[in-house]
Amino acid sequence: MTDLPQHDIADPSLRAQGVARIEWAERSMPVLRQIRERFAKERPFEGQRFAACMHMTTETAVLLRTLKAGGAELAACASNPLSTQDDTMAALVHEYGISVFARNGVDRDAYYAHINAALDIRPDFVFDDGCDLVNTLHTTRKELLEAIKAGCEETTTGVVRLRQMAADDALRFPVVAVNDTDTKHMFDNRYGTGQSSLDAIMRATNLLFAGKTVVIGGFGYCGKGLAERAAGLGAHVVVTEIDPTKALDATMQGYRVMPMLEAARIGDVFITVTSNRGALRPEHFEVMKDGAILANAGHFDIEVDVAGLGEMAVEKRSRIRHQTDEYILADGRRLLLVAEGRLVNLGAAEGHPASVMDMSFADQALTAEWLTKTYASLEPGVVDVPTEIDKHVARVKLETMGIQIDTLTSDQETYMNSWEFGS
Ligand code: SAH
Repeated sequence: MTDLPQHDIADPSLRAQGVARIEWAERSMPVLRQIRERFAKERPFEGQRFAACMHMTTETAVLLRTLKAGGAELAACASNPLSTQDDTMAALVHEYGISVFARNGVDRDAYYAHINAALDIRPDFVFDDGCDLVNTLHTTRKELLEAIKAGCEETTTGVVRLRQMAADDALRFPVVAVNDTDTKHMFDNRYGTGQSSLDAIMRATNLLFAGKTVVIGGFGYCGKGLAERAAGLGAHVVVTEIDPTKALDATMQGYRVMPMLEAARIGDVFITVTSNRGALRPEHFEVMKDGAILANAGHFDIEVDVAGLGEMAVEKRSRIRHQTDEYILADGRRLLLVAEGRLVNLGAAEGHPASVMDMSFADQALTAEWLTKTYASLEPGVVDVPTEIDKHVARVKLETMGIQIDTLTSDQETYMNSWEFGS
C-alpha cells in the first residue's frame, strides 16, 4: 500500500459503495465524460499540481477524476463539513488514487486543518467553492501565493468575496468566476438549488408543501428556482427582497412580496438565499408560528442567525429527525432548524443532481484547461470564463440530450452583423 495518496478520510471500508455511487453519477454526466476521454489522450495538466476545496460529493469525484485523467496531481478537501460523502471519499483514495482530506461533520478546526493539508501540495492552480481556500492562502498560507498561477471559483458567494478582495487590491492571482457562466448559474443555481433544497427539507421533515406558505429570502437565481419549484408543489410563495427590480420581478411572476418581519408571521417554511448574514434573526423568530421550519440554501451558516436562535431558546432538542434540530422558545413555540443552518441541499440531501453538475463541472474542467494556456497573460483579479467555453458546454449538453437547434442562414448572419438595413 505504499502508493496510496496522502489522505484523511473516515472509513476506507466504504470504498465499494462509493465506487457504485460515483459510477451512478457518471451516467448522468455525459459532457464531463466526453471531456475526460479527451483529457486522457491530450494530458493538458501534465506536471501541474491542483488543490480543490469543494463539496466532496459523487459529482465532484467525477470532476476530480476528469482533472486527474488530464495529468494533474491533485489534493482535495471539503468546502463544507456536512456535504462530505464518506463512501465517496473512500473510493477517491482507495480506488482512484486521489489525495483527499475530508470527513463528514468535522468541526471548524478540522475543517481548516483539511484545507491546509490540501494546500500542502503547493498548488499551481486552485479550485474553490465559497472562497475559503483562497482566503486561507491570503491570510495564513501566504508563502504559497507566489507559486499560484490561477484559480476557479464555483459559487455566487465566493465570487462576491473575491470581488471584495479585488476591490481592496488584496487578491494576488487571477481567479475565474465559473459561477457567472450562463451554463452554470442559469441551471445549477436555479434548477439545482430549486429541486435539491426542497428535496432536503422533505427528507428532513417529511413536510407536505401543498397549501403551505413558503417564504423565500432573496430572489436571485437560487431564489427563482426555489419559488418555481415550491409553487409547483402547491405552496403559497412569499418573496422578500432588498433590491427593487428583483422585488418587482417576483411580484410580476405572481408571488407575494413583503418585508421579512411581516412574512415571519405567516410562513410555514423559510428558505434563505440572500448571500448575506442575518436574513433571519431574533426579531423574526420572535413572531414566527409554532412549528416553523428554517433552512438556508445560500451562504454558509450565517444567513439564519443560529447563535441568536440558540440564545433565545430555553431548550434545544438535537436531531429530532434527520438533520433537524428543534429550538423551544420561552413561550413554548418550537422552531425547527434544518442542517444547522448550513446549506440545506448539501447538508440534508445530496446537493444538486448529477445532470446539472455535469454542466457546472464541464465549465470547471474546460476553464482549467484554458487557464493552463493563458494564466501568464492574466492580471490578478476576477476573470470571466470565455464565452466559447460557455456555448460549447451548452451545445454538447444539448447534443447528449438528442436535441437539435437551428443555425443562422448567411442572409441572417449578414443582417445581424450590419446596421445599414432597415426593417
Ligand atoms: N461553500 C459554501 C458556499 C455555497 S456552495 C457553503 O458550503 O456554504 C454552493 C455550491 O455548491 C453551488 O455553486 C453548487 O455548484 C455546488 N454544489 C451543489 N450541488 C453539488 C454537488 N452535488 N456536488 C458538488 N457541488 C455541488
